[in-house]
Amino acid sequence: MSVETQKETLGFQTEVKQLLHLMIHSLYSNKEIFLRELISNASDAVDKLRFEALAKPELLEGGAELKIRVSFDKDAKTVTLEDNGIGMSREDAVTHLGTIAKSGTADFMKHLSGDQKKDSHLIGQFGVGFYSAFIVADKVDVFSRRAGLAASEGVHWSSKGEGEFEIATVEKADRGTRIVLHLKSAEDEFADGWRLRNIIKKYSDHIALPIELPKEVAAVEGEDKPAIEWETVNRASALWTRPRTEVKDEEYQEFYKHVAHDFENPLSWSHNKVEGKLEYTSLLYVPTRAPFDLYQREAPKGLKLYVQRVFVMDQAESFLPLYLRFIKGVVDSNDLSLNVSREILQKDPIIDSMKSALTKRVLDMLEKLAKNESEQYKGFWKNFGQVMKEGPAEDFANKEKIAGLLRFASTQGDDGEQVVGLADYLARAKEGQDKIYYLTGETYAQVKNSPHLEVFRKKGIEVLLLTDRIDEWLMSYLNDFDGKSFVDVARGDLDLGNLDSEEDKKAAEEVAKSKEGLVERLKTALGDSVAEVRVSHRLTDSPAILAIGEQDLGLQMRQILEASGQKVPDSKPIFEFNPAHPLIEKLDNEQSDERFGDLSHILFDQAALAAGDSLKDPAAYVRRLNKLLVELSV
Ligand code: ADP
Ligand code: MG
Repeated sequence: MSVETQKETLGFQTEVKQLLHLMIHSLYSNKEIFLRELISNASDAVDKLRFEALAKPELLEGGAELKIRVSFDKDAKTVTLEDNGIGMSREDAVTHLGTIAKSGTADFMKHLSGDQKKDSHLIGQFGVGFYSAFIVADKVDVFSRRAGLAASEGVHWSSKGEGEFEIATVEKADRGTRIVLHLKSAEDEFADGWRLRNIIKKYSDHIALPIELPKEVAAVEGEDKPAIEWETVNRASALWTRPRTEVKDEEYQEFYKHVAHDFENPLSWSHNKVEGKLEYTSLLYVPTRAPFDLYQREAPKGLKLYVQRVFVMDQAESFLPLYLRFIKGVVDSNDLSLNVSREILQKDPIIDSMKSALTKRVLDMLEKLAKNESEQYKGFWKNFGQVMKEGPAEDFANKEKIAGLLRFASTQGDDGEQVVGLADYLARAKEGQDKIYYLTGETYAQVKNSPHLEVFRKKGIEVLLLTDRIDEWLMSYLNDFDGKSFVDVARGDLDLGNLDSEEDKKAAEEVAKSKEGLVERLKTALGDSVAEVRVSHRLTDSPAILAIGEQDLGLQMRQILEASGQKVPDSKPIFEFNPAHPLIEKLDNEQSDERFGDLSHILFDQAALAAGDSLKDPAAYVRRLNKLLVELSV
């Protein structure tokens, strides 16, 4: 044992403590994954070394063959992993093995309920990683040295996984990392060659570099213990370079967990080799669950980039648009140069054409999923629907394709679940219907009962109900789908086109004519509050409604802009009334101008409330209503 200097004891970041606790208590039924996680890290470390050595060959320090070795000691109850990758400096070890760098982690941890069953699902969104060592070990020693540092600048990190770790500077002759797991007494089954070999075959066969175990060589009596012979136990070739037909689903799944640092299986994947003008292989995955930091601006996104099988960078963001940032995977190019940088990637025209091809691959994969696995697609939509809705604004070229993947709630369902696709909607449209009708609003309960839907209910026409915050913004980018234009049913002068018969139209015109007097009186009474007053064709039960002007901002957009402190152009609604409603008839017969005024303002305010808007002068509304109530009771 070499001398240790500068020894200190440090506390784990609070989030690490929480994660450790959660992990140890929720993953005991899946203990063996610790090995997968540690091998995954060793493989990443070797990738990083290989890449850095392109510019600085001296980092290879004589160029030993890159590999991972797993050994064990039955008597000491230890399992040891050793890699000759990039290694860690003392500071690296303190940050990487003592904190979690992901932004939003603390917030995420607040969601923990203390109920281990529920929380164990959350850990899936989080990934497990290095700390999984403590599922099986009650003490972990890490010896490491960053490639390029002197042998005297090795680091020894040690912890019992309880709240703190020790760190010291030590001598380490070889670069890379050695991790010694001191197994809990109940977990000594892992100090076994057969067991380790099986776990490696099961989870880590796809790792592209050799994973070696000591060969079992029987000792011959009277002779010295034979030198250890090592034997490679995994396939040790890059999975994406193999033909699709030869890769099993389980292999694709395990590879996903390694590249995505995820804990769960992916929902779907697409593996393709492109030859011709450009040559590259891609393996793209749709995760099953959204990571907790999907909406964090700085959250990691992008693909793992390889150039001719050599790892070049993590999180290469230039290969997919932002609305597909949840896609994980690998792209391996034969055309790019090994010293490509992020800046070059942003400008390179090769990347542009790869990006559009890869985008199309993802959209095709999602189309296929929607078509063949509708239950799974529902799950996908719940997790990633909000992000997909950013698509039409960002990706003009694929607008129609993205629109086809969107899912909405509609008047056909009764629980507000977003399950209706535009193709389904059109397939069951009424005869003569050449529009896609929708209504946006704050909550499902509010839009579901909106008076704007009355005429559609009466005629049995389906209306899409849009209540996500970004829906109105989304709809401003969607003009049509499959040649049919979108119509906001709360906007403008509702024209039902062929859905209204000639008689309907004629009758409506006659009614409008007969109510001209009332229209004028209402205009005078409501004055500045309205842009226009007119007879409505959209109401059957409610007395009145407010429609939004054709060019005006809707309520949702107005609220978003206001919340962000922007000045919102003033716009006035159109007041439409239902001539057949008894209240309107009463109004029409009202002789007193004062009472006419009160009643029309009440109708106006009620219509605003029904649309989910707030009243400009709520006290005036209450005063007028109470006045009427008093008169009523005498
Ligand atoms: P992740 O792999 O998702 O980054 P982990 O918890 O598995 O998270 O690992 C944390 C970090 O510790 C890694 O990102 C890496 O910086 C460092 N690390 C872990 N194992 C090794 C290793 N064998 N060699 C070098 N660095 C390592
Ligand atoms: Mg890891």
